[in-house]
Amino acid sequence: MYIISKGLSLIIILVRIILDRIGAYESMKHTFTGRTYSGDEITWRSKSILSDLKIGFCEECGFFHAHPYPSEDFLSEYYQYYEIPCPLHSEERDRIARLLFKRVSPSSSIIDIGCGKGEMLSTLLAHGFKNLYGTEFGSMYDESKKLESINVLPYNIVDLCDWCEKENKSFECAILINVFEHVPEPINLMKMIKKILSPDGILMFIVPNDFSKLQAVYLEKTKMKPWFLILPDHVNFFSLDTIDKVMEKAGYEVLHKTVQYPLEFFLLQGDDYIAMPELGKICHHKRVEFERSFTTTDKTSDLEAIYDAFARVGIGRDMYIVARSV
Ligand SMILES: [Zn+2]
Repeated sequence: MYIISKGLSLIIILVRIILDRIGAYESMKHTFTGRTYSGDEITWRSKSILSDLKIGFCEECGFFHAHPYPSEDFLSEYYQYYEIPCPLHSEERDRIARLLFKRVSPSSSIIDIGCGKGEMLSTLLAHGFKNLYGTEFGSMYDESKKLESINVLPYNIVDLCDWCEKENKSFECAILINVFEHVPEPINLMKMIKKILSPDGILMFIVPNDFSKLQAVYLEKTKMKPWFLILPDHVNFFSLDTIDKVMEKAGYEVLHKTVQYPLEFFLLQGDDYIAMPELGKICHHKRVEFERSFTTTDKTSDLEAIYDAFARVGIGRDMYIVARSV
């Protein structure tokens, strides 16, 4: 779980605050088409309560998701006792900063929605970004609000929209790290974020790339169930093949798709960290070493070209999406 769970730390409180106001969203019609997953095909964390849920490809939304979505009450309770895994490691945060530099200037207003303790914002500050905001709640807000030169706000997404309207404030960039896979009706959340972006504002987010070619090969080879269908931790399952249309529905144009290292390479070459979780840490270190081979030899742009190419063929464990509000 180590290499799959990383990055979740920034989302926990955000999910709770979004769920607080989920009633503000219009509910969408959901129609599954093709193969659905249910019962023992799913890795459950709370099967006794959620056993009626199925996962399938929704024609309306354009991606795989759970249906019906777990209730607001259930998810709020679930995340209240959620143990926070390790945060994004520093190399990944540096990479996000480098990717942002290609799109926005150092003086651009940037907001990290669900900023946790502010690790990502601190990295952006160290890289020269100067106009930084975050949203957070509870004890993590108490910590992140102490950050110098960064404005952390104790608002959920609805209150943030209200605040922006009242202050006549907008952001040139919004960042969401591992959020959309956790939240019911994510297209509605994407639409709400548009309200706080300036014209042509940029949305950058990270979500897992599920139902990929490499995952399909592994499942066919091993006859295992899809290990990445973990309810209720993840309720949405996006892919590089479906994300463009999803963003179009939400009112965005995808500008750039890239990925994190395709961890499924390990699964297919004998380092089966799913069957043997103790290999997870070893695989993680190998992947980090792979990337450091490029960054320490001043070949970072070659690494990015390789990851862009992986994205074009639909492989990579998590995907980095940069989209423009249209
Ligand atoms: Zn749907």
